Amino acid sequence: MSRRPISISIDRLRGKRPATGPARRLPGDERSCPHCQSHFRAEEMERNCYVCAVCDHHFGMTARQRLDHLAGGEPWEEIGGELRAADPLRFVDLEPYTERVRAAEAKGATEAMISAYLEIEGQPCVVSAMEFGFLGGSMGSVVGERFARAAEFAVARNVPLISVTSSGGARMQEGVLALMQMAKTIVALDELADARLPFVMVLAHPTTGGVWASFASLGDVTYAEPGALIAFSGPRVIEQTTHEKLPANFGLAERQFEHGHVDAVVDRRELPARLGRLLGILEQPPRDESQSLASQLAQNGSERAARMAQALPSLSRRLRGRPADATYHPSRGHSGS
Ligand SMILES: [Zn+2]
Repeated sequence: MSRRPISISIDRLRGKRPATGPARRLPGDERSCPHCQSHFRAEEMERNCYVCAVCDHHFGMTARQRLDHLAGGEPWEEIGGELRAADPLRFVDLEPYTERVRAAEAKGATEAMISAYLEIEGQPCVVSAMEFGFLGGSMGSVVGERFARAAEFAVARNVPLISVTSSGGARMQEGVLALMQMAKTIVALDELADARLPFVMVLAHPTTGGVWASFASLGDVTYAEPGALIAFSGPRVIEQTTHEKLPANFGLAERQFEHGHVDAVVDRRELPARLGRLLGILEQPPRDESQSLASQLAQNGSERAARMAQALPSLSRRLRGRPADATYHPSRGHSGS
């Protein structure tokens, strides 16, 4: 076997590679785009908010990366971070639930949701971001409680609540306790609504099952990331059950937008600015200012009504004065009058 060291001439490679050629293609890993196979360095990924610079594919993001991105790199205050999953059912499938939780925690996250108090473009708010890397972003007791505490915190501070979801649904290992979190998150949103505070949803890939069937579908304003799967059941499950072929874009954010389930599909790189602007619009003015605004609107309304009343008779005269045989020809214009 030859011991000769391998030498690569970078200059020669540079000379052969056109300046504006296609991006490098390497075997698949978490930094290679599954759509166009472009490969990126870690700092390139971070700089571009984990979006493919070639085809705009949105990669997954951890909850911490989400919060850092929305907060513009500023610090945030975690809410309910001390909560940890218990195992009241002593559930065992292929391995005990406690072992699965321990393995998920070893990757760095403490649960499938992080709630935090932060500012987006100068607008204070509470954000609950989901972590798909923790047991598929599944909603168990801790996720439900962290969401409920986030809503309570938002009410106490009189700020809006935003949630970014990425979840496979309810956590099967917690059985009915996981399903109870669907009702719990909805009750938490009722309290938010009673306090007249907005709830903004950002649906990231994938938002499915019990999360989509509870709080994720209740946003006052709902944004989705491009290409995100948003459905109760994924297309594979439905096709296996019904033996029917589904459309290729079934459940994707763009199709959900076409059908009115989503207000806008927003590129992740524009999300902080978009949310900041929205929160600025939804911000409630102080009481005395809002009264003057109401009277101003009423005055504007009556002025507009008066202008309409003046304009209507002349408008109807114009309509009456129009000859009955007036028809339009592209070459000659109106034939009547
Ligand atoms: Zn790509």
